[in-house]
Amino acid sequence: MATFKAIRIDKADKGTTAALTQFDEAELMEGDVTVRVEWSTLNYKDGLALTGKAPVVRRFPMIAGIDFAGTVEQSSHPQWKAGDKVVCTGWGMGETHLGAYAEKARVKGDWLVALPQGLSACDAMAIGTAGFTAMLAVLALEKQGISPKSGPVVVTGAAGGVGSVATAVLSKLGYHVIASTGRAAEAGYLRELGAAEVIDRNELSVPAKPLAKERWAGGVDSVGSTTLANLLAMTKYGGAIAACGLAAGMDLPSSVAPFILRGVCLLGIDSVMCPIAPRKAAWQRLASDLDRTKLSEITKEISLDQIIEWGPKILAGEVRGRIVVKIL
Ligand code: NDP
Repeated sequence: MATFKAIRIDKADKGTTAALTQFDEAELMEGDVTVRVEWSTLNYKDGLALTGKAPVVRRFPMIAGIDFAGTVEQSSHPQWKAGDKVVCTGWGMGETHLGAYAEKARVKGDWLVALPQGLSACDAMAIGTAGFTAMLAVLALEKQGISPKSGPVVVTGAAGGVGSVATAVLSKLGYHVIASTGRAAEAGYLRELGAAEVIDRNELSVPAKPLAKERWAGGVDSVGSTTLANLLAMTKYGGAIAACGLAAGMDLPSSVAPFILRGVCLLGIDSVMCPIAPRKAAWQRLASDLDRTKLSEITKEISLDQIIEWGPKILAGEVRGRIVVKIL
């Protein structure tokens, strides 16, 4: 019987367990494309699934991992043939559909994006859902009319995955980037990525006033809660904040004041079910607007058998930038 290596999540009496095992190929779920997975990555959500800290996994057994890049082995989908290089992020992989921390994945061809020219499979996973989400946030700000001329932009959770890619892309596009971090020791790293200013995240974690001094025209927030409330209160007239994360919490202790008195917009960002057209657009922009040297500077490589030990680290905010996982 054909088997392949995978990180398997099972239900236990208390919570869940995660282990590197051999998975039976016959247990792969339905899909019209089978992919040989070459690279994956570690996102915040993967940390939640690996540790069982939040109910991310909704089917057991599950193969963890929400992103992969690899080569098509078999396809009955008209768009894909054996040998094609593809990228897949989100769509419930690692949650409801068997995921990416495995040598093999079977998915719907409609979920796949061709590996953009100029990016290797490893680069694509160094970007992963976190970097893709950062680019969706940048595109949302642009659609809202925010440009480098509008004023500074703030990035929260800046030393994390979404934050590092957002900082690198926004600075390359010519924005004055204010990076907010809780890790003072990462100030040099953030300046190298292109941050013009680095601020202490404690400044943004005090209870927010309805309105405060206008500091930025736009922002990318991966933290949520009081931080997002402060970002909104400090956004200039007509500005916008793209909200993509909840590293500090799901709540939003804010008021309508920024919206009705300054015309500020709150832009919601979802990467998981993002339709295919904006997906392709975001990957194309990542290929052109993310400096490859900076990408390699923010990336650390680990192997499939190291993933489980890295899960708690990303939840503890100890991961700098992006982790890429070599599968084959
Ligand atoms: P990371 O862990 O890499 O980054 C999160 C960063 O947030 C940390 O590095 C830290 O940055 C900061 N942070 C952590 N805890 C706190 C806290 N208690 N208060 C303030 N800041 C904190 O995760 P990712 O970049 O992969 O993901 C970031 C967030 O975005 C997560 O909540 C994730 O679920 C969400 N997300 C959402 C997506 C979507 O589709 N909407 C897709 C991808 C991610 P620093 O040390 O610099 O302060």
